[in-house]
Amino acid sequence: MINVAQIFGSNVFSETVMKERLPKDTFKKLKRTLDLGEELSPAVAEVVASAMKDWAVEKGATHYTHWFQPMTGKTAEKHDSFIEPTGDGRVIMEFSGKQLIQGEPDASSFPSGGLRATFEARGYTAWDATSPAFVKDDTLYIPTAFCSYSGEALDKKTPLLRSMEAVSKQAVRILRLFGDEDTQKVTSTVGPEQEYFIVDKALFQERKDLIFTGRTLFGAMPPKGQELDDHYFGTIKERVSDFMKELDEELWKLGITSKSKHNEVAPAQHEMAPIFTTTNIATDHNQLVMDTLIKVANRHDLACLLHEKPFAGINGSGKHNNWSLGTDKMNLLEPGVTPHDNAKFLTFLVATIAAVGKYAPLMRLSAASPGNDHRLGANEAPPAIISIFLGEQLTDIINQIKDGALTSSIAQTHMDLGVQTLPKFPKDVTDRNRTSPFAFTGNKFEFRMVGSTMSISGPNIVLNTIVADVLCDIADELEKADDFRGTLSQIIEKLVKENFSVIFDGDGYDPSWVVEAEKRGLPNIKTTVEAIEVFNKPEYIQVFEKFGVFTKGEILARQEIMFEEYAKTINIEALSMIQIAKKEILPAVLEYASNVASSVSEIKAVVPDADVTAQSEIVAKVTSLYTEASKALAALEASVQKVKAIEEIHEQAKAFKFEVFDAMTALRQPCDALEEIVAEDFWPFPTYGDLLFRV
Ligand code: ADP
Ligand code: MG
Repeated sequence: MINVAQIFGSNVFSETVMKERLPKDTFKKLKRTLDLGEELSPAVAEVVASAMKDWAVEKGATHYTHWFQPMTGKTAEKHDSFIEPTGDGRVIMEFSGKQLIQGEPDASSFPSGGLRATFEARGYTAWDATSPAFVKDDTLYIPTAFCSYSGEALDKKTPLLRSMEAVSKQAVRILRLFGDEDTQKVTSTVGPEQEYFIVDKALFQERKDLIFTGRTLFGAMPPKGQELDDHYFGTIKERVSDFMKELDEELWKLGITSKSKHNEVAPAQHEMAPIFTTTNIATDHNQLVMDTLIKVANRHDLACLLHEKPFAGINGSGKHNNWSLGTDKMNLLEPGVTPHDNAKFLTFLVATIAAVGKYAPLMRLSAASPGNDHRLGANEAPPAIISIFLGEQLTDIINQIKDGALTSSIAQTHMDLGVQTLPKFPKDVTDRNRTSPFAFTGNKFEFRMVGSTMSISGPNIVLNTIVADVLCDIADELEKADDFRGTLSQIIEKLVKENFSVIFDGDGYDPSWVVEAEKRGLPNIKTTVEAIEVFNKPEYIQVFEKFGVFTKGEILARQEIMFEEYAKTINIEALSMIQIAKKEILPAVLEYASNVASSVSEIKAVVPDADVTAQSEIVAKVTSLYTEASKALAALEASVQKVKAIEEIHEQAKAFKFEVFDAMTALRQPCDALEEIVAEDFWPFPTYGDLLFRV
């Protein structure tokens, strides 16, 4: 039996550890950096570094690494040992403040979208003291930001930290207007629910598509899928349960509050969720969760699939990004019990609604990835349309506000009316609408479009920034106003009216919603390529620049990287398909066909007038599909060649989507049809049935 309380955070250089190990004065100064964002002096860094090293060495660490999150969406690390020669052939373990604060990894191979000229190829890493250091695999991990020599962000952390500051600053302005003189900082918080698939490792290793691309590129539907709904919340298989136990243990040691685990809708699909924390730490933790899922699965002879759509025709995986804003005392999206709090709550609620309404394409962009294209607006819900679900009670309030029902007495009694209608805003725990991409769930918003492999940094950068923008507009007006209550009521009414069309409580998965959304004028950006295209629109550059989250240069660089990533991903998928079809599927099919054909002649030799129509039909059908597949293969090869020659990256990405991708589908169809005919012994790799049910 493990003692959870004892192991929790045991590998983290947490505040408690710092308090124990740092001189009082140093700890106080560090706390000011952590809590108030004050700059850290080199002297303080020196003391912290030394204590951190001693602690890490006691934990068995021999190395340290500046751990960062380049724009690949993965994490990166280069390990350096603590050793320092003493001159007499021996070494001591050393770690300086400078080594803690700044690193210069030769990280020139990460995508920079042209931000880093070759003459200044180096990137710099800078300690992010707001996310705690930890020991893993005998190495001290120091979370860092990664930027260029001239300070441009080259990573996913820097803009997230900037967006957190932006939303904090604007939210504090609003709190001041409500008479809160104490709050210095508002934190954006997130609890990401992570979905994943678990399959047998030996089976996984026989599938080159899974190895190279993370998803199956071929595969016919098994006789049983998810139609019985017998997997969701079902008993967890013992092998998977053992894996989950070790996963929890590993995560707890890293101070990750792994809280829930359960089977998901699809066979072999599962979910884990931690307890929420600041968006920055949650993002770091989610990266660790994804890493740990893969590592621990491997130890159990299992393979974890994080892809958004590992199996066609079977539910895909997402990441529900539960987001809110809070002070050290309260959650600002927690419906209050007093009139005062209700008004405050309503302000933050409406600000978020307005932000999502106004910047829906940015939200869509933040969930765009090659893998997520298979979910959003494609074969699987949620649709690519951004809409907001509020639940019955809040929708009622919003309806009243929109219809101006409060206008007559709005100036004096708006707050009180709010109380009359919803004395406590009782928490809507049922959350009946699972089809909404952005749902208010009691005391937070749940952004459900995010893909399972994606870093959650992007979605939270966008959320923080766009909410900061609306809060800023509100604060600008209120600060000028003589009549706070009246003005606030007017602002809320105006924002609700302007953004009413984004609120939708119906079935988001119903085809009629697409038609309805179009009538409402809501954007429906179906593909990743089209989503990336919106990034450099002047109004988006403007909002990111206004709040210092991205410069125009950083946006253009990121846009280029996203197009590039898209093109590269489809290219790898296409090449994998070509190889698998050519070297595995087609030869196997040929072998099977000739096997059946020889059996026909063998039978005929013994029984000359035997009826071999059935066998002959198999040969004919297989041969016809073989021909179709061979042609499709040649067409795909030609398509890839053609598209790779396109130099302009945006055009190339488009061509990968609208030409190569279609050619891939054309190859898959006859191959999947063949899988249903060819005898199992001949089929070159495990089927969907094997992968989904044999754990
Ligand atoms: P679900 O019904 O969607 O599974 P849960 O109650 O399990 O919902 O919560 C999902 C996630 O939401 C958890 O990670 C939880 O910690 C997180 N969450 C709760 N409150 C907040 C908040 N104020 N800010 C951000 N995330 C939150
Ligand atoms: Mg959820």
